[in-house]
Amino acid sequence: METAVKEAKYECLLFDMDDTLYPLSSGVNLACRKNIEDYMLRHLQIEESQVPKMCLDLYKEYGTTMAGLKELGFEFDNDEFHAYVHGRLPYETLKPDPLLRNILLSMPQRKLILTNADQAHAAKVLSRLGLEDCCEGVICFETLNPPTSDDRRSFAEIDIDSSSDTPRGRNRILCKPSLEAIETAIKIAGIDPKRTIFFDDSARNIAAGKAAGLHTVLVGSSVLVAGADVALESIHNIREALPEIWQDGDQLEQVLAATSAEAVVLA
Ligand SMILES: [Mg+2]
Repeated sequence: METAVKEAKYECLLFDMDDTLYPLSSGVNLACRKNIEDYMLRHLQIEESQVPKMCLDLYKEYGTTMAGLKELGFEFDNDEFHAYVHGRLPYETLKPDPLLRNILLSMPQRKLILTNADQAHAAKVLSRLGLEDCCEGVICFETLNPPTSDDRRSFAEIDIDSSSDTPRGRNRILCKPSLEAIETAIKIAGIDPKRTIFFDDSARNIAAGKAAGLHTVLVGSSVLVAGADVALESIHNIREALPEIWQDGDQLEQVLAATSAEAVVLA
């Protein structure tokens, strides 16, 4: 039976990880901030009274506190920093999420993660949540910030397009919410932003995602922010809020059901 193949509305779903695939209330975010403040105090010898405000200000201004510290000229090893701030996180508070796992596995689109975190943290979080095999790949800190432009590291099966290199200052960290970071991720993943939905808990990242041409879903709040097409209290509400994600699949199922019903009649 000939079926008209309608082009799918969405071809890819791009997810932030921290505080998007699990709730802010897990305490991981708070513990992470505490570790970053500790690093600033102990390793960068920043005056204790200035640390909390500086940590927050740099986060707001540069996307991550780490990116801000580099921009200010602090020199430290990226891997060492990540090991310090993620090494003692309460990962045990993250539990397997079979509901989210089923939702992700039932989505017919490509699924990718775009996180400012490093690869080790991403792997640990996804494994704790029981989601390590639900996505095709993770675009993380190392993907966007390779040691040198000739040594881009990929994770999972993402092909890296070396032509997307952009000259950057030696200390500059590429991370959300910079438009350049999101556009680079789009190129690396080889996706069409107009047919991709981007999920993130950060209003700034959502605004940048919209500027990059993506469909956007704010997660963790039901209140819409600038640039958000949809706002979800929890990632678990995707089915109700975005039934169109499954629409392409439904159409296929209907065709298959019609075909099998026909076969039954003919038999
Ligand atoms: Mg997040």
